[in-house]
Amino acid sequence: TVGAVALDKHGNLAYATSTGGIINKMVGRVGDSPCVGSGGYADNDIGAVSTTGHGESIIKVNLARLAIFHLQQGKKPQEAADAALCYMKTRVKGLGGIIVVDKSGEWAARWTSVSMPWASAKDDKLQFGIVPGMVHITDI
Ligand code: ASP
Repeated sequence: TVGAVALDKHGNLAYATSTGGIINKMVGRVGDSPCVGSGGYADNDIGAVSTTGHGESIIKVNLARLAIFHLQQGKKPQEAADAALCYMKTRVKGLGGIIVVDKSGEWAARWTSVSMPWASAKDDKLQFGIVPGMVHITDI
């Protein structure tokens, strides 16, 4: 999966999620990525989220919308991502990852899967992370 979230200078929030799916998928399988609320969600009043991971689990918990819900309840991007991933792990034993940006531009990249390379560009500053486990959530 390749996902992106963005906040423009006018305050517009957007997400994009693209995937080849999973290995040995059934013919005709529709994963989470094309499903709004699962593979991603954006709301100019709240934030934008793109997800990756086990699609069937992501769909069951509506992972992107769940992270947006937590943002809406006042959580910071990292807390919102962790709460949504924690719920997916405990409720349906699903692993995955989330990138999230809120309407102030604060962002987080969090995952429970083995690794999730990410990059961020903000005010001409480029950041990236490729180290497995760098912000891997192991204790949830
Ligand atoms: N979420 C994708 C799917 O299950 C797979 C992935 O994230 O790589 O189709």
